[in-house]
Amino acid sequence: MDAVSIYVNYLAIVPTVVFGILLIISKPILKNCWKYFLSLFIVFCSFFILTGYFTSNSFHTLSFTAFYRTLINFPQSWYLGSTFQAPRYKLYNAVRQPISYRSGSIPSNNIVFIIDESVRGDHLSLNGYKRETTQFLDELNKKGLIKNWGIAVSGTTCSMTSNNLMLTGLTELPDVTYKVYQLPTIFQYAKAMGYKTYYFDGQVSQLWNGKNSDISDYGEWITSKDWKSPNKFDIDAEIAEKINEITTASTGNFIWINKVGVHKPYKNSYPNTETIWQPVSSDEDFTVIYDKNEAKEKIENEYDNAIKYNSNSFFRTLFDKGIPSASFFIYTSDHGQSLSENGETVSHCSNTKNEANVPLFMIANIKDLNQVDTGYKATHANLFATILDLMKFPEDKKAYNYATSLLKAKASDSQARYYFVGDLFGKGRSKKYPFDQY
Ligand SMILES: [Zn+2]
Repeated sequence: MDAVSIYVNYLAIVPTVVFGILLIISKPILKNCWKYFLSLFIVFCSFFILTGYFTSNSFHTLSFTAFYRTLINFPQSWYLGSTFQAPRYKLYNAVRQPISYRSGSIPSNNIVFIIDESVRGDHLSLNGYKRETTQFLDELNKKGLIKNWGIAVSGTTCSMTSNNLMLTGLTELPDVTYKVYQLPTIFQYAKAMGYKTYYFDGQVSQLWNGKNSDISDYGEWITSKDWKSPNKFDIDAEIAEKINEITTASTGNFIWINKVGVHKPYKNSYPNTETIWQPVSSDEDFTVIYDKNEAKEKIENEYDNAIKYNSNSFFRTLFDKGIPSASFFIYTSDHGQSLSENGETVSHCSNTKNEANVPLFMIANIKDLNQVDTGYKATHANLFATILDLMKFPEDKKAYNYATSLLKAKASDSQARYYFVGDLFGKGRSKKYPFDQY
């Protein structure tokens, strides 16, 4: 049925053109310009709403008609649904599975889950990159304070889908039964185990990860508008300062962080004075699209400058008093990045392997680090169960069959990894792509 609706989508051009020609022939177009466009608009909308209702409404993610179709079909798919699917608002409003278990003891550690933005795993000197981009982390590593799984794989190549998967631990994709709206969030587990919860978002001031009903579980929810730094590139260090205050003064905290990170255009992530590698790109475009004429070397220089400044300023501030006791810092990025090195036209949300290439490591005091096996080929999917283990949530009370915890996984348990691209619910050309070449 997907193929049918894709073709129906393209057919939209037929009634539009026919109707346009009829109007042009019958009336002098200049005199009745507004009538022409109004009529055309009505025909266009009616066509999309009708076909949206009677087909599964699939389309090429980046096609021209998809834009109009999504725009016009939003009220229809949200409120009315189609012959294929209940109205989206009903699916979205499903009540999440509750966590009935309650811990009888007070949590004795801090768990800090740091999700960076657009940081590609193989551009960290910590992971052997040719340039020294992560000097501070390299020093921590030499002291044995990092357990590093190296290059890991993100759930998807786009921020929102990737974060929603980490929030719920969902592993079955495509999510045809809308489980992402029903599974308990990691915050529900944190509360069940007695943690005080925090959600620090450096990027956005509105809710974009989870549902409205989840906000009460986020505890102290600090968003983009609440940070004081006048420069965007200083917000992550301000967040680090806040985490530093909390984790050095108390235990029993669960903190989720969405960093500002190094989203395109990369030069927004560092001050001019911190330009180490030159020349840099002149790209000012905040979307995922690269200028076709931009030199790859400039993109790479700009990107590496951004990582170097952002990583060092964040982690230096976070650990200026050393690693707090009984605290675990889990770090990854929402997705990787294509730097157009193979002629790609977009930076992320597409289907190249570099967009799913993410760092993944844990920082803690040596005595607190478990005898984990970092030879295991890790993915984002492993993080949910890892956090549950750090919280000491009982195995038999889990609400879902989550992927293996990194505290338990051995190198020999590794399986071929994949990343998912497109609509989580399986619309259009969404698909799993292999990451490892066995
Ligand atoms: Zn992102």
